[in-house]
This record gives sequence, structure tokens and C-alpha cells, in this order.
Amino acid sequence: MAEEKNKRTDVNKLGEFGLIDHLTEGFVSYHENTVKMVGDDAAVLDNGSDYRLISTDCLVEGIHFDLAYTPLKHLGYKAIAVNLSDIYAMNGFPEQVTVSIAFSNRFSVEAIDELYKGIKTACNNYKVDLIGGDTTSSPKGLFISVTAIGRVDKDKVVYRNTAKKGDLICITGNLGASFLGLQILEREKQIYQSTPGGLQPDLEDQSYLIGRQLKPEARFDMVELFHKANLVPTSMIDISDGLASELFHICKQSGVGAILEESGVPIHPDAEKKSIDFGIDPITSALSGGEDYELLFTIDVNDIEKVKFLPDIYIAGEIVPKEDGIKLHTKGGNIHEIKAQGWVHF
Ligand code: ADP
Ligand code: MG
Repeated sequence: MAEEKNKRTDVNKLGEFGLIDHLTEGFVSYHENTVKMVGDDAAVLDNGSDYRLISTDCLVEGIHFDLAYTPLKHLGYKAIAVNLSDIYAMNGFPEQVTVSIAFSNRFSVEAIDELYKGIKTACNNYKVDLIGGDTTSSPKGLFISVTAIGRVDKDKVVYRNTAKKGDLICITGNLGASFLGLQILEREKQIYQSTPGGLQPDLEDQSYLIGRQLKPEARFDMVELFHKANLVPTSMIDISDGLASELFHICKQSGVGAILEESGVPIHPDAEKKSIDFGIDPITSALSGGEDYELLFTIDVNDIEKVKFLPDIYIAGEIVPKEDGIKLHTKGGNIHEIKAQGWVHF
């Protein structure tokens, strides 16, 4: 009994996803209009004629951003964009956001103003309404929590758990660039801090990679294209933690396996080059880097004609039976098992 009381489990033992499963286990639904609870990019509520989508994300200074190289205006923009990305990942469109902040007295009104300039720019670009939030103090550092609310037609909602054998795996845009942008910023920070007089780095030719890290965009354009093309993906997730981790979510929740073609995974030439400079295989940057905020989705093979003519979409593999596992077919012709590359945040 005493042993049970004194039991202390390190959160890293469960990992982020294990911890979420553990904490949310056993919660029941009391309301018929709760269509989807925990487990997807957004919760889904029945709104009568359509579905309402709700998603929350929290950004913590020192964990998700470093103000040594993150302009507050960019941070505000990113806080909104990454949340909206979860609404697009349900094939829906965001309409409102709430923003809650906590900050220490290290931050001036002018500093918080900068953050809100970015938030406003994002609200205008994505056409969402800031409808509320909360403002409070913190003993140390800045916290930002954003909740995005959106809507989707009932016959257009796309979940993570509905991929099926034979579906094609598709990826938008390109992957790995944001991770490499972060590596550049981290490296420059270290050089800056260890150089007497603090030499300012010249990051001009790295602007694409750094821009992908500091000012990511959510792919509303893709969801608009899907709707126009009358394409409803069979499953979808946004790529926030790296391709491997997101593919695992789709496969685990759908009860399927996947074969990913290295040659089909889109990687920007700048990302490819910088990855090699850092001694990292570019496919590893795409699989394990994060914060691309692109979309990973699957389509029924009969919909290939609809996708073929859409820009910026790459077919990168196929959904296979669960028993076949989750594998990468490399450019060299080898087949490797893809490891669940979640990160540990704590
Ligand atoms: P995403 O990366 O798309 O933002 P997450 O991995 O953060 O998704 O979350 C996965 C699911 O777990 C979501 O449905 C989210 O709402 C839910 N979730 C995360 N943390 C908690 C928590 N502390 N309590 C309840 N639900 C949570
Ligand atoms: Mg997501």
C-alpha cells in the first residue's frame, strides 16, 4: 500500500502519446453531439447541418520557441498558423480563434504588441476572427495557447483512422526544411554566444529554410483544392512532428501498414543540400524533423485522376495490410522498417 502511494513514474516512460492515452482513458461521452473526442487533429461536434471542429495547442518558451532568434511577430503568426493547420487536417475551414497568454514582467507592452501584430496578420491572412482568450502572468517566460474553431460539411470530414489497404499515400509541399532551419538557427545562436562581441550571422542564403521554421503557413490552399476537385481523402493528418510519426498515427489508428517510397517524398533542394552539410540523410530530416505543417493524406486509388492534376501534391507510397508493417523503400532499393520517431518533450 505504502509502495503504491510512493510510486513515481517518470513521464518520459510513457512518452507524449502514451501519456495522452493514459490521461484520457476512461472518459465517457455525455453528449450526443460529441462525434469525435480525443485522438484526431481536432474534436468534431455535431452542429446540426454541419460539423464544428475544435483544436487547441500550447506553445511554451524554451520548449517550442527560443526568443533569442524568434521575432515575437513571427511567433504570433506561427501560433495561429499551426493551430489552423489542425483544422485543415480535418478537411475543414477555421473560422474563429481564442488566444490565451501568460508572461512574466520581463515582457513589455511593446513586446506583447509585437506578438499581437503577428497574430493579427495571421487572422487577416487566414480570415479567422479573434473572439476571446485570457491574459495572465507567469513566474518566468511566455506561454501561448490558441484554440481554433472551424467547420466542415458532414460528408467532407476526414479522420486519421480511415485509411484502407490499397490507398495511395500523398504528401503536400515539401518536408524537412523547417527542421533544418531550426538547426541553422541553433548553430548560429551558439556561434553568436561563443564569439566575443557577438558576430551577427549572415543568414541571407538560408532564408528559405529559416522562413519555413519561423513563419510556417498552414495549407488552406490544399483543402480548397480538395473541395474544388470534389476529392475527399480517405484519411489525413498535418505534419507537425515529422512524417514518420504522422504516418504511424494514421497506420495505428486505421489498423493498416504502409510502404513509403523514398523517391516520392518531396524534399526542397535547399533542405537536401543543408541536410547533407549537417551529415544527416535528407530522408531522415523529412521523416524525423518536424514543424513542416504540410498535409499527409491517403486517397482511394480510384481518385488518382483527381489528384494527378493538382499542384504541389506528391504520391509517396501505398497503404498495405497491417501485417506488412510500416516500411521505407529506399532509392537504393532496400526496404527498412520505419521507427516511430516521436520526440520527448519533458
Ligand atoms: P496535434 O499534434 O495534431 O496537435 P496532439 O498530438 O497534440 O495533436 O493531440 C492528439 C490528441 O490528444 C488530440 O485529440 C488532442 O486534443 C488530445 N490531447 C492532447 N493532450 C490532451 C490532454 N492533456 N487532455 C485531453 N486531450 C488531450
Ligand atoms: Mg495535427
